[in-house]
Amino acid sequence: QPHGRVFNFSAGPAVLPVEVLEQAQADLLNWRGSGMSVMEMSHRGKEFQSIIDAAEADLRALLAIPDNYTVLFMQGGASTQFSAIPLNLAGEGDTVDYIVTGSWSKKAAGEAKKYCKVNVAATGDNKSVPDPATWNLSADAKYVHYCDNETIQGVEFKGPPAVGDKLLIADMSSNFCSKPVDVSKYGLIYAGAQKNIGPAGVTIVIIRTDLMGNARPITPTMLDYAVQAGDQSMYNTPPCWSIYMCGLVFAKMRADGGLPAVQAANEKKAKVLYDTIASSNGFYSSPVDPAVRSLMNVPFTIPSSADLEKEFIGQAAKRSMIQLKGHRSVGGMRASIYNSMPLEGTQQLADFMREFAAQHA
Ligand code: PLP
Repeated sequence: QPHGRVFNFSAGPAVLPVEVLEQAQADLLNWRGSGMSVMEMSHRGKEFQSIIDAAEADLRALLAIPDNYTVLFMQGGASTQFSAIPLNLAGEGDTVDYIVTGSWSKKAAGEAKKYCKVNVAATGDNKSVPDPATWNLSADAKYVHYCDNETIQGVEFKGPPAVGDKLLIADMSSNFCSKPVDVSKYGLIYAGAQKNIGPAGVTIVIIRTDLMGNARPITPTMLDYAVQAGDQSMYNTPPCWSIYMCGLVFAKMRADGGLPAVQAANEKKAKVLYDTIASSNGFYSSPVDPAVRSLMNVPFTIPSSADLEKEFIGQAAKRSMIQLKGHRSVGGMRASIYNSMPLEGTQQLADFMREFAAQHA
């Protein structure tokens, strides 16, 4: 691979497009004749203003974000949104609904419990999504929260769940900009950057504008969506470098054909791995219901032997395919194949999987 780079299957921070890294390298000492890098420039200057404006415009174009939605560049990761959402959108005595389909939605629900009444309207088995028709939604819930892609379990919704006229909120941290999304179906979408779109440090929030302005008085100013919107995400010093990097990624995605092209590439990559698992005569196994298998995170096991799993991960690393160990809470293997993982990376992994199975079956 160029620059001696490895195939990095990390769940995040994760691989970025090599062209974007090269551009960042070229810009590092002197961004477009400004005489400084983006790390060094004032966020109040016209140079940075042009960077954040372009990043927002490109993101709006990619996702066709309707005009009545506000885009915020926040900090604190998706985990901070677990608190910001109830603080902004529900009162202390209010009920909110959470759908738990894996580790991250469980965490989000746990955090919301500090701030309001959480009704866990459905709990999955970490391998599938309970049929939305069976969800026990509360009549008066302020919103319904779910995680569109469970990074650890590899469980991904294939479209927005039907929740009637309820306000829908989605954690899209690990599949943000991996496919077209109908933003108008949502009250709020949020995502940490560090999987599909850039370095850690910036968190994207897309919120229907009329929902802002109701934060509880105790809400930290930094987490008040209306304050952040009023200051164009620059109430304080924003994560300038991370925003700039996301901007480069958004521009590249647009130039490469937008989200339909991204989705097509992601489907192709995921198919390579799921097909390899399916044709391994049971040597490898995917724990996830085929209907909701993630295009981003592919967990798999070697059911016959945990020792072989260890061996697999070690041998793969020797061939420059790294970070294939499953999350410590579930074990096994996990190949995270975000937008910037090239098809060749998944093909090389699939070749190795076949070779390893032939040796050890
Ligand atoms: N939600 C999902 C789906 C995630 O995958 C992660 C991180 O892996 C988080 C939330 C937490 O994100 P952060 O580390 O940005 O707080």
